[in-house]
Amino acid sequence: MKQRMSVVENILSANDQLAEENRSRLEAAGIYTLNLMASPGAGKTSLIEHTIKHLNGKLHLAVIDGDIATSIDADRAVAAGAEAVQINTGGECHLDAVMLQGALNQLELTKFDLLLVENVGNLVCPAAFKLGTHQNVLIASIPEGDDKPYKYPTMYRGVDALVINKIDLLPYIDFDMQYFQRGVELLNPGLVTFPLSCSTGEGLQTWFDWLEERVSDFNPAANL
Ligand code: MG
Repeated sequence: MKQRMSVVENILSANDQLAEENRSRLEAAGIYTLNLMASPGAGKTSLIEHTIKHLNGKLHLAVIDGDIATSIDADRAVAAGAEAVQINTGGECHLDAVMLQGALNQLELTKFDLLLVENVGNLVCPAAFKLGTHQNVLIASIPEGDDKPYKYPTMYRGVDALVINKIDLLPYIDFDMQYFQRGVELLNPGLVTFPLSCSTGEGLQTWFDWLEERVSDFNPAANL
């Protein structure tokens, strides 16, 4: 057991080193990068599509999509107007720093102001692997239920912002927002939160404004 633990620790520390290298490349290129995490079906790709459509023309945006299989998500990002690279993990339930490095190699980084990395849909594994991105964003959604912060504390603890998608479904689903937010507050006090709906558009503007502010704080030369 002890041996197994040290193997796991070594893998994670090798990953962390490479994540730092990724971060240095992103810094040097002046590209602000978000790691978007969520369970399958929470709306990562829909949020990315809306974000591309809104910010296109204001800044240069690239997307890296992680999925176990297919290029469906990268195709959607390209159709929405961004450059996109698809990573197929071939069964791995998360992205890691090596995979991100490979995807970064396929982009001309200095061309972009903002990079959105869509992690594999999973609330457990992605939380353990740093990629080198600037901030971690979790996308929760109403149909998942209000108990998820309590059941997946590591994920909720490790993020810098929280999107609550599909708020248009609140009248139809037994979801206690106060109970949900109490759980979030216990794990991650003061976490910036964006309740929104990708299908009605409600709340999206606040998310876009926050994102634009992050990009211009990071790189005042970005074309906003
Ligand atoms: Mg997706």
